[in-house]
Amino acid sequence: MTQTIQVAVPGPFAEPLDYLAPTNEPLPQPGMRVQVPLGRRQLVGMVVETQAQTHIESHRLKSIITTLDSEPLIDADLLALIIWSAHYYHHPIGEALISALPARLRQGHAATPSAETLWQLSAHAQASDLDALRRRAPRQAMLLEHLMQSQTLTAAQLAGLGGDARAALQKLVAKGFATTQQQHHYGLMAGRASEPAFALNDAQHTSAAAIQPGHGHAILLIDGVTGSGKTEVYLDAITRAIQQGLQTLVIVPEIGLTPQLLSRFQRRLAAQIAVLHSGLSDSERLNAWLAARAGKADVLIGTRSAIFVPLARPGLIIVDEEHDASLKQQDGFRYSARDLAILRAHRLEVPIALGSATPSLETLANARSQRYQHHQLSERAGQAQAPLMRLLDMRGQPTHDGLSAPLIERVQSHLDADGQVLLFLNRRGFSPTLICHECGWLAECQRCDARMTYHRGKRRLHCHHCDREQPIPRDCPSCGSVDLRPLGLGTERIEQALQSRFADTPLVRIDRDSTRQRGSFERQMQAAQRGEAKLLLGTQMLAKGHHLPTVTLVGVIDADQGLFGADFRAPERLAQLIIQVAGRAGRAERPGEVAIQTHHPEHPLLQMLIHGGYPAFAQAALAEREAAGLPPARAMALIRAEATDAAAPRRFLQAAQALAPETPAVERLGPYPAPMERRAGRYRAQIMLQSDQRAALQTLLKQWLPRIHSLRESRRVRWSVDVDPTETL
Ligand code: ADP
Ligand code: ZN
Ligand code: ZN
Repeated sequence: MTQTIQVAVPGPFAEPLDYLAPTNEPLPQPGMRVQVPLGRRQLVGMVVETQAQTHIESHRLKSIITTLDSEPLIDADLLALIIWSAHYYHHPIGEALISALPARLRQGHAATPSAETLWQLSAHAQASDLDALRRRAPRQAMLLEHLMQSQTLTAAQLAGLGGDARAALQKLVAKGFATTQQQHHYGLMAGRASEPAFALNDAQHTSAAAIQPGHGHAILLIDGVTGSGKTEVYLDAITRAIQQGLQTLVIVPEIGLTPQLLSRFQRRLAAQIAVLHSGLSDSERLNAWLAARAGKADVLIGTRSAIFVPLARPGLIIVDEEHDASLKQQDGFRYSARDLAILRAHRLEVPIALGSATPSLETLANARSQRYQHHQLSERAGQAQAPLMRLLDMRGQPTHDGLSAPLIERVQSHLDADGQVLLFLNRRGFSPTLICHECGWLAECQRCDARMTYHRGKRRLHCHHCDREQPIPRDCPSCGSVDLRPLGLGTERIEQALQSRFADTPLVRIDRDSTRQRGSFERQMQAAQRGEAKLLLGTQMLAKGHHLPTVTLVGVIDADQGLFGADFRAPERLAQLIIQVAGRAGRAERPGEVAIQTHHPEHPLLQMLIHGGYPAFAQAALAEREAAGLPPARAMALIRAEATDAAAPRRFLQAAQALAPETPAVERLGPYPAPMERRAGRYRAQIMLQSDQRAALQTLLKQWLPRIHSLRESRRVRWSVDVDPTETL
């Protein structure tokens, strides 16, 4: 009897599908890709099981068409991890497995790195041949001489020789003077360890010594203020991993993967470094993936999806900025790279270090309950001192486009002392909306329950939620008045205010609009870092992860927008942003100052943050979550639905509610409209599930979701499940 093989196939299937083993081919193994028929199509799937029992009669099964790999692409451990996460996040198994692969492997391309031709000197070539060639074929002679000197020539070197060097080389091959060979190259960066390591301070030493590659699993939180030398701790641990012949996987947020970080790793590590992020071409991504899998790369630095890369000789996992929202995927397969990293480290029995200056409340709760080792680096490394934070009460203060007199005074005094000033406002554009001064009309988006941002530079209204743009109306669409005024603050507006108030001071603005051109973000950051611009203004792009050694004053223009956000994580995000942006100040020898403008100086969160720093804030915020029964005190999942028909999402979710298995352990809330009910022309509703037993929540979803799938109403909406949501909007 032909054997049945379970294959994970892209499509809405929770479980793998059964196929018959291919005829005339060896049995494919788990982790190999196969080409399978599905309906009238042929798809690339991945074998997950070959010993399966099937309840489908074998004459009704189709055969695997062909096996695409001669050995498993991913090992049993990684396969099991991805299957586990597909179940945990309730995502179709084939989609999870296939989306874990680089695009080229998804498309069925061979799992081989880029290759280039390498020309080598043949053993037959003699000096006398060179003399003979010199007379008859000077070009060939020149190339032969090259080969005799350097033994090999690459395609890149060939390009530098000009003329038709390739044709001449082919003639040398034909004459037996040279040979060719295809050489794989993985596009790795070679680290040279040209710079010595710092002598670690005591706190750094204690945390670094606790990270022991090759000595089993441990979870460590490296909780260190900005500039405390966390990266040095990682580098120390990575160096030891390399010395033991072990690989390190470093996961960083999207914005953290900068050329500065890479060059620092290169300067400090004697290692082959592979990099994986969304800015690479498909073949570059494949190369990095294969380099890690083949063990050619000692270190793999990547964003979120790097968590699914196979490792030949794993020794250590590091997640930098573990609190960062970009570590959770927000559509499709909604996994948390941080949470999966912990699981993966556990399966691989390697240590994992989570680093942050502002750890997430989830991670802090785990550190508190001693599931994680908690290492604190509370002092800045080297000479730098911690900045001084204070609140500027905005109530009743005259303001000049959002800048209060006390803030202007502080800016002036730092500029006078030849300091550098960073102003932070997490809102781009000129103003969040336009208002009619006659009748109060507001520029609202026609497709969202949101206002359109006024962009003065490009003279347009732009909705940041659906990307819709339109020209600025000449007069009020409601009353015809021409007195339309900007309402509220955006970075463009602050830029204008600063330019008029500090006319001769060089300024850079860094936000998504000012950095659209490729490379412009890096250019502007360099101007900021070199101290050429004295005034720096920007959104969170500016707040995260960069050293700005000469900044002496950080001004937070508006703390209030984060205090009253609709999402329960808004205060946590605000505190993290304030601390991160404050961490930009005084990183070198000068002490820094942080001034925070607010209309709510008595707000307990701000008070806590100012007086006790992030740890005090986090403790209070955790107590609040506990009291409210919110994560991490309880597990949460959301079922979201959206449709262009306003009533459809609610109808669907109501029908779903009616099919829910009753479990007292899980609280079900809703359906209720999403906080922003309409977005991009679609109405949105959701059900929230909460439980203090994660397993009970999982069991419920497992029983419930197949029933929801079978609902007729489910075809009229777009719906999805989000386990451990990081935003509930
Ligand atoms: P973090 O990652 O916590 O923000 P970094 O590792 O980037 O901190 O270190 C901040 C600065 O302090 C860097 O300029 C680094 O070179 C310097 N530094 C780190 N550790 C030491 C040390 N032990 N002695 C002297 N300087 C250090
Ligand atoms: Zn009007
Ligand atoms: Zn919109």
